[in-house]
Amino acid sequence: MWLWHSAGVDKVSYVESTAQSFMPYQQFVDDGFLLCLHWNDLSCANQVITEACHLWRHKFAGGRKGPRVLQVGPMCDSQMSPQNITLCGEQPVKVEQVKVLGTIIDDQLTLEAQLCAVLSTLQSEGIRLVTGMTAAGFGLPAIASQFSTRVVAKAMHGCELLASHVDGFTKVSSRLNHAHYIVAKACLGVPPTTSLGSYVAAFAECRFLTRASTILAQRVVMTRARLALLPRSHPTRVAVRAAQHLPASWWQHARVLMLSISSEFSEIWEFAGASDFDNLTKQEKTKLLQAYLNSCVTPLLRLLEEQWFQQQLQHMISEAIVPYNHLDHVLLPWQPNERWQTWPPTFWNMVRIWKVARIVCALPILTHEGSKFLSLLATCPFCGDVVVGIRHFVEQCVHMQDIRSSVFRLMGGSCELSMILCQSSASVEIFTAKVKLVAGATSRVAQYLQLDTV
Ligand SMILES: [Zn+2]
Repeated sequence: MWLWHSAGVDKVSYVESTAQSFMPYQQFVDDGFLLCLHWNDLSCANQVITEACHLWRHKFAGGRKGPRVLQVGPMCDSQMSPQNITLCGEQPVKVEQVKVLGTIIDDQLTLEAQLCAVLSTLQSEGIRLVTGMTAAGFGLPAIASQFSTRVVAKAMHGCELLASHVDGFTKVSSRLNHAHYIVAKACLGVPPTTSLGSYVAAFAECRFLTRASTILAQRVVMTRARLALLPRSHPTRVAVRAAQHLPASWWQHARVLMLSISSEFSEIWEFAGASDFDNLTKQEKTKLLQAYLNSCVTPLLRLLEEQWFQQQLQHMISEAIVPYNHLDHVLLPWQPNERWQTWPPTFWNMVRIWKVARIVCALPILTHEGSKFLSLLATCPFCGDVVVGIRHFVEQCVHMQDIRSSVFRLMGGSCELSMILCQSSASVEIFTAKVKLVAGATSRVAQYLQLDTV
């Protein structure tokens, strides 16, 4: 800071006049962003920067990392063009999108490229996590927790802008949740192109109890709150204030998104009962944001998720597809004691088969077409019974008697399919026996037919 006190001014002039010979080395300048309304402004700004770089022996990177210009909408002085503009001798390349702090902005402001980046990271990193952790002997509870803390946090970087995506929040949500569903399917050993017929059951089996769309909503709401708490003089706050009444601004889109989730959402200034936060210290602001998150945002979003899960699962029950009659059980997060349990490959295999059998109520055997599961066989390859499905192999087929024996012993001679597929079990022993029965029968049929299980 010595440069700026009165005695320093002379020294600055001195350094400036001798800079050429005093600064024999060159330094590279980090990223810089200019927002301009006119080509002329851009040209002037670049001239000033070029002169400063020359004087201070600084340089911007060239080539692939060189200057770029993103034209959003028509420029006011269309007679000029970027061809006449240079930065440190380099002509800026006109591009259709730029990455700003990890967020992709496109020249039409559709934010489609940003959404694609979020979806791609969510899906590919999610699948990589599942494959890696499974191979290392971790179970589904460990994967579910690492997925939300690592993959989601990384993939959702910059997702807040998606409140302004050209197709609106509903379509963005369904695409996000589809990517989330593909990760859930990867956990269950189901190929991305094979339908499980139900998002909710896949999420419930993995205990992915907060959908990606809800995580997006939370981040948007909290970003609004954070912006509102910035000091009045902060450039971002000034920009927000200038744009907040424009219907096409992110600020308005974010508000519409917030109210579409619940009309009970309060803005942070309503929640705090204050309109000016400039007198708050940094710690007080952090505390206020935390209170807003815990007492307003999280309860409303949790309610939204609970309602969605309940409604969707009730719908499945009414269609009598899956034994989700113990709803509370599948809607509990994994318990801390389950989190780091080891799941050897055979256990993983059995659990996957059992879970997918619960969801599709068919044998979790992949047909050659790969898009669906084997629901019915014309005849049983073992006993010759006609039109047989999972129920036959679990409850009736005499050739499966050996795999049925431990369930018989533990459950008093009963092995009704709905009981076998039911989540709640009197003991871990009974649970394991049920899983082993479904997995054993399925594997035997798959082996005979030379097809793969999940
Ligand atoms: Zn049979």
